[in-house]
Amino acid sequence: MTQLQVHGLGHAFGRDEIFSAIDFNLSAGEVVALVGPSGCGKTTLLHLCAGLLDVQEGRIDNGFGNPASMFQQPRLLPWKTTLDNIALGLKAQGVARQQRVQQARALALRLGLSAGDLDKFPHQLSGGMQSRVSLARALVLQPDLLLLDEPFAALDIGLKEDLYALLLAEQGVRGMGVLMITHDLMEAVRLADRILVMAAEPGRIVSRLALDVPAAQRSDAWIYQHTAELLQLPALRQSFGLSTRAPQPPAPTIRSAIREDTLVATPIRKRSGC
Ligand code: ATP
Repeated sequence: MTQLQVHGLGHAFGRDEIFSAIDFNLSAGEVVALVGPSGCGKTTLLHLCAGLLDVQEGRIDNGFGNPASMFQQPRLLPWKTTLDNIALGLKAQGVARQQRVQQARALALRLGLSAGDLDKFPHQLSGGMQSRVSLARALVLQPDLLLLDEPFAALDIGLKEDLYALLLAEQGVRGMGVLMITHDLMEAVRLADRILVMAAEPGRIVSRLALDVPAAQRSDAWIYQHTAELLQLPALRQSFGLSTRAPQPPAPTIRSAIREDTLVATPIRKRSGC
């Protein structure tokens, strides 16, 4: 099975060690969420997986042949229309104009943009519409691996729900692997098959969680309950600097559906100064 395999990955900017000993796998058809406090290195890790940074320590074996990324800021080209922004990657791949317009239009409409939006420029679109364009721009390339850096952070809850559904539908159809960063624990519980909890200074994975109900079958109640359960995990509370006083035990009926696989405690260390 196609996999992204990350082995013993470490990274430093200058003398600052950002993270070390990062190990995880992501298989086709799987959604893995990275959660952790600001500065623990999530974006750096994603950039390494996307090949935007050189690997300094450890190894990344990426069996996926066609990755695409979507970032928190839509990063649309202001001088191009919605349609041309979506079709940009197809143009770079040498797809003929008529064909790329056709594919971009079909996907834009599927993602809830209207025909009238397609000729607009980014400044004429709301933030939510820009996010849809950004998602369409990534999906139109038919990626087998989607790397998402807080793509839904700026959206209201209704738009988030829409895009979650669209993402899961696309993911179900194509069996993409998805690696996503989120600060929103409920988003992670809604979308992910596995959640990797990171801690900072240096960044490392401190907990690995598996959610054993398929995302498409999770009800709102299930998601609320499991988010509450996640919030009670000592490793997560510690990593976010939350009080670790004895939390309320979760209801026994929901306990079994979320599983803490491992807890890896790496001693905190900083690269020595000059
Ligand atoms: P957030 O949740 O706030 O987005 P993050 O977990 O994604 O944070 P990164 O953006 O990966 O964290 O940054 C990790 C650390 O690396 C931070 O201390 C940041 O200042 C530092 N850093 C990131 N990019 C660079 C860079 N190009 N040069 C130097 N330091 C950097």
